[in-house]
Amino acid sequence: MPVSLRFRCQYCDAHPDPLTQISLVTAMRQMTFGEYQDALPGRWLIFHARGPFGPTRYACPAHRGDLVAYLREHYGAVGPQVWRRPPYPSSLAHSDMDHTWNVATTRRTGGP
Ligand SMILES: [Zn+2]
Repeated sequence: MPVSLRFRCQYCDAHPDPLTQISLVTAMRQMTFGEYQDALPGRWLIFHARGPFGPTRYACPAHRGDLVAYLREHYGAVGPQVWRRPPYPSSLAHSDMDHTWNVATTRRTGGP
């Protein structure tokens, strides 16, 4: 039985439309930390958290402001990332490429 990722707004029962769902799945695969991202075309907001920021969070267009306010209230002291103002990038492909580049070019040390 195929498992599909189901995204849900953290404040309501909204589910993304199919195209926005694709954006969310793509975004989830990116190795990003402490970044806001717009998931288009539905204008969902992602906060790539991890580490001290807790889990990655998602909000529908109606609750973007609530998510930002929540993050600032709870994680405002953790890092300056949560204070970033829109517009947020709709793609973090650049940092994703940087990560791929680092993985591809980092040589393991401690060999013979
Ligand atoms: Zn919502």
